Amino acid sequence: MPNPRFPIPGGPALRAKGWRQEALLRLLENVLSVGEDPDNLIVYAALGKAARNWAAHDRIVEALKTMDEDQTLVIQSGKPIGLLKTHKDAPLVIMANCNIVGQWAKAEVFYDLQEKGLICWGGLTAGAWQYIGSQGVIQGTYEIFMRIAEKRFGGDLRGRFVLTAGLGGMGGSQPLAGRMAGAAILCVDVDPERAEKRRAIGYLDEIAPDLDSALAVIDRAAKAGEARSVGLVGNAADVYPEIVRRGIVPDVVTDQTAAHDLVYGYVPKGFTLAEVRALRVTDPARLMAESRASIVDHVRAMLAFQAAGAEVFDNGNLIRTHARDGGVANAFDIPIFTEAYLRPLFCRAIGPFRWMALSGDPEDIRIIDDLVLERFPDNRIVSNWIRLARENVPFEGLPARIAWLGHGARTELAVAVNDLVAKGALAGPVAFSRDHLDAGAMAHPNIMTENMLDGSDAIADWPLLDAMALCASMADLVVVHSGGGGYAGFMTSAGVTLVADGTDAADRRLRHALTNDTSLGIMRYADAGYDEAVDEAAAKGLDWFDLSGRA
Ligand code: NAD
Repeated sequence: MPNPRFPIPGGPALRAKGWRQEALLRLLENVLSVGEDPDNLIVYAALGKAARNWAAHDRIVEALKTMDEDQTLVIQSGKPIGLLKTHKDAPLVIMANCNIVGQWAKAEVFYDLQEKGLICWGGLTAGAWQYIGSQGVIQGTYEIFMRIAEKRFGGDLRGRFVLTAGLGGMGGSQPLAGRMAGAAILCVDVDPERAEKRRAIGYLDEIAPDLDSALAVIDRAAKAGEARSVGLVGNAADVYPEIVRRGIVPDVVTDQTAAHDLVYGYVPKGFTLAEVRALRVTDPARLMAESRASIVDHVRAMLAFQAAGAEVFDNGNLIRTHARDGGVANAFDIPIFTEAYLRPLFCRAIGPFRWMALSGDPEDIRIIDDLVLERFPDNRIVSNWIRLARENVPFEGLPARIAWLGHGARTELAVAVNDLVAKGALAGPVAFSRDHLDAGAMAHPNIMTENMLDGSDAIADWPLLDAMALCASMADLVVVHSGGGGYAGFMTSAGVTLVADGTDAADRRLRHALTNDTSLGIMRYADAGYDEAVDEAAAKGLDWFDLSGRA
């Protein structure tokens, strides 16, 4: 459903002085074209914005169109500050988004600064113009489901009932990921428009009129071993406890409502969406208290499912943190997905790498799909994913693909794609990026770095080092983000974008930046004492200093 006011960019014509600038401009246009509320510059995760305000946005666009390759555009929390004279190997854009000094990094301070127009939250990929719609997290969600399937259900989720909530920008990936894993998946969202958006793009098979019908469809599908995704419009804080009350135990339970933000994200039960929107202005403190009270019921139901034998996990939205603050002492009995399922991959810097066809031509992605299958035939995760994704994942905005590749493989693929661009085998250049939730790129003690072996959960040096290493490695765009809204004080992350425009300079940038990004990721986990990372550092010949005293 392309939004006519925010068209998807594409085509061969340059509006900037070079492809690097044009690429970043197209990526900015793209995050708005696939964003949740582009009129307000909001891309996803409740308040994650592409730019501070429309004046800032327009000035960024003008700067990208007119700047030379030997300049660097400086952006502070979505506002362009100016151009610095650098050189052709320097980043074109550097950003710092929403970094508030430690003792001040609280949701209320953030809202106040936002009100004064001094800051905005960039989400993880919104402010850095890297968001590619729900497909950006879909493989991550799918891999979580598959790890659970391997751990508990013999390899896939066929015949299994998955219960979740949240059909927003990121949560909207869940129904498709669940269906791809074979499950009968029920997704609850309080906003009928969000549910309809996911149905319209085919992520949801249907929206059930009420809980009874939803459970009946799920039951039939699970018994028949049929993969099916069902939406239900309702408040998860009502629906989850009601399912508990009925004595029904799903096989897998999670949640991806925007629970991290008690004012702009989560919708407390007993309130209409209009009432919540009004309370955001008139009484945010009451809204915070109501959201926290609902989250308490919501998480108590998740704990009840866990006690009854369901596989329950936190999907990265701070729901346990708010429940604990609301008095649920054992909220952290629910594990975080990173530690429970994905950390062994992060130890080897395998994470959510992605690429976007700047031409707008889907054929470019198909050609790169073939290249991935040809280059990495023994990589079971990636081969399986590419085959599934090309059949099941519709493009949103600029044609894009995500694939969990690691150290060496990312560089190899990007350099090979740059060669294809140089030969004219693709319709245009390709941008490479990754989620901020990546090995060396994120400190988030309640998500990415929870329960690190060495207790280094809250140390934010790693993303800062990563960003500096990426600047030193000539990446095209480098960003440091910290949390805003309900995430204020909870996280710091680094992001990177590179443009494969077919030049020798791009070849150099891709080799340095992608290799160093993943090298640092492996070193971060090796430094924390993870054997998989120590082995990977040795296997890949990294120049890592082991000061642990291990033999
Ligand atoms: P979003 O703001 O686009 O969507 C949130 C959705 O939750 C909305 O559709 C809203 O209607 C719904 N909702 C709110 N309260 C509800 C309730 N009580 N019951 C039912 N539905 C309710 O947010 P998003 O981009 O989809 O992100 C969701 C959460 O996931 C955020 O907290 C985000 O930070 C987190 N996240 C996790 C990962 C990860 O890697 N696991 C990645 C990105 C985002």
